[in-house]
Amino acid sequence: MKTAYLTGPKRIELRDVPEPHAPAGGIVLDVKACGICGSDLRRWKEGPPKGVAGAVPGHEAAGIILEVGKGVTAYAPGDYLAIAPDVHCGRCYYCQRGLYNLCNELRFVGVTPELPGALAERLVLAEEVLVNGIVHLMPREMSFIEGSLAEPSCSVLACHHRTGTGLGDTVVVMGAGPIGCLHTVVAQSLGASVIVSEPNVTRRRLAERFAPQAIVDPTSEDLAARVREVTGGVGADIVICANPVAQTQTQAVEIVRKRGKVVLFGGLPKTSPMVTLDSNRIHYGEIEVVGAFSYHPTTHELALDLIHRKVIPADLLVTHTFGLNEIDRAFETAAAGEALKVVVTR
Ligand SMILES: [Zn+2]
Ligand SMILES: [Zn+2]
Repeated sequence: MKTAYLTGPKRIELRDVPEPHAPAGGIVLDVKACGICGSDLRRWKEGPPKGVAGAVPGHEAAGIILEVGKGVTAYAPGDYLAIAPDVHCGRCYYCQRGLYNLCNELRFVGVTPELPGALAERLVLAEEVLVNGIVHLMPREMSFIEGSLAEPSCSVLACHHRTGTGLGDTVVVMGAGPIGCLHTVVAQSLGASVIVSEPNVTRRRLAERFAPQAIVDPTSEDLAARVREVTGGVGADIVICANPVAQTQTQAVEIVRKRGKVVLFGGLPKTSPMVTLDSNRIHYGEIEVVGAFSYHPTTHELALDLIHRKVIPADLLVTHTFGLNEIDRAFETAAAGEALKVVVTR
């Protein structure tokens, strides 16, 4: 079977490797769709982790079970599955409190070297992934592309659970990549009106298909003035920084209203995680600045349901599909910032 190995910065080798068999307690998934995530792109640019010759990326996957190992009773060959990457330990302080996304030993399919990912024809999910990972059956009439979109939808849904986004809120979304657009969709479905801020012209144009209240180019327009205008001078209820840019976090604190919430959703580059925030505004305005990372496993089931019911429109979010043998083009397209979701399909 063909498997994509990341062997260096922007270098992927498609190798033919022996067909896998299901280990005891595990399964083999025939991968039908796997999305390319912002985190996959970052690792593609950096190359595999030090000391690892080749890593198989891909964690936004969906497919059909080909084979089940000894002792597997919850799944059968022919089942349609969607998966997400997190595998928690089940033992640490956070796991014992059900906060699995904060697990101290969190590992990820398609990231942690000993858990190869889904940019391959087949994916082995070992027993520990079936037990402590995020695996859900898909509705039969759902497409695999829709199934693969469940994973990136999850962290967005979890974020809006935490912020309590609701009717009449004004939400500013910084960044109109695939995740920013998902924030726009989810916030609007909860009854909020959304202002999108995005410097890239192609992405601003792509964001139009979700019909937010306003789309602002922060390089040529005054975002703060626009937010004041839309909110009668009050400021945004919620600002979501869905991009890896420190200045947007600084600006978020300036445009949020008193008692409003700023969500640091996109991680900053590991080498420069420091940022300056107006602490007096946070103090006197009782502003909440919160982090958001990953999600509880049950969110994945919710995402599948929302995509199935078209609350989250996969057809508008997935702009490009490529075969596994076009893997370089898939990554290059995703990296060019001209696409929303790029999915590798079979
Ligand atoms: Zn992802
Ligand atoms: Zn844990």
